Amino acid sequence: MLYAVVEWNYILSDLAKGPNVWSTNFPTCGGTRNSPINLLSAGPGFVRTRAVPWVLNNWNGDNSWKVKDEHYTVKFSLESGQAMSTSGGGLGTVYDIVQFHFHWGADNSIGSEHLLNGRSFPMEIHFVHKNSRYATIGDAVASGASDALAAIGFFFQIQAQDNPQLNAIINAVQVVRQDSDFEVSGVKVRVTDFVTSAFKSSYYRYFGGLTTPGCQEIVLWTVFTEPIGISARQMQILRTQANMSFGVNFFRAVQPLGSRLVQLFETQPARRNRVCQDLTALSLDLAACLFLNDPSMLTSVCCIFQSELFYYKSLRLKVNNTIYACATESSTNQVLRVDNSNNINNMT
Ligand SMILES: [Zn+2]
Repeated sequence: MLYAVVEWNYILSDLAKGPNVWSTNFPTCGGTRNSPINLLSAGPGFVRTRAVPWVLNNWNGDNSWKVKDEHYTVKFSLESGQAMSTSGGGLGTVYDIVQFHFHWGADNSIGSEHLLNGRSFPMEIHFVHKNSRYATIGDAVASGASDALAAIGFFFQIQAQDNPQLNAIINAVQVVRQDSDFEVSGVKVRVTDFVTSAFKSSYYRYFGGLTTPGCQEIVLWTVFTEPIGISARQMQILRTQANMSFGVNFFRAVQPLGSRLVQLFETQPARRNRVCQDLTALSLDLAACLFLNDPSMLTSVCCIFQSELFYYKSLRLKVNNTIYACATESSTNQVLRVDNSNNINNMT
């Protein structure tokens, strides 16, 4: 069997081809909109919004896939004559599925590419789509457009029992991992068998890149928050391959967020602090929202900023026995303090 010639790898100690020299050998790997990233519940650059329904065309079909051992991953490519597409979810247009593949690590403590509040998962699956305005994935990549591709990622987490919904995938992996570059065709996988539950969870969205060289910054990313279950035994089948010379950790480290915004589409928006976290993300000058993390508060939505006043239905806060109220119908910077005798004073 001929091994594919590769110009990069995941071996940190390899200073000719490893991740430490990717940006030397492939300059875009040192770009400002690379992937993966650490996904946070809140913080600069993170904006919360309400989830948008997904439109999944033929995800529930019993589709045929060509499955290939690619050393660093196992790739399932949708066979010709099949069509699966994804829209809705805030994507903005229709994206056609081309393939899915996995990233994992040497043990269950590492392996995912994205992190969720700094946490690693043992594996992450990526569904790679091309924007439907391009005829082929080659055309999409060549366009260089920031939305040329869409990738949808799900985390996996270890559960005690095998996940029978992964059987079709695990069985195919076991076959192709017998030899490097081994591939089989006509493998039937119905994707909704294992993604349906996670698809109902909140998800992140940002503009990023391919996580392998050349790291082209052409990917609209979606990463779901709810992981898919997998047993340690099933994980081990993915890790075991004929040629172990390619290393054991097949994921890229997180990259700087830079000046990008990340949207968290929430299926069940948290009531508390929601407004404040939105606005904190936009780097406005905070005043009264600082109170909102105080557990003694009665209500949670009263935010005064440098140039605008935001308020929700509840307009009174109680912090350390002092009641604060936002002035209603006001366009000025005001925090009104309601003292113990119920007098209202302008604090600003
Ligand atoms: Zn990937």
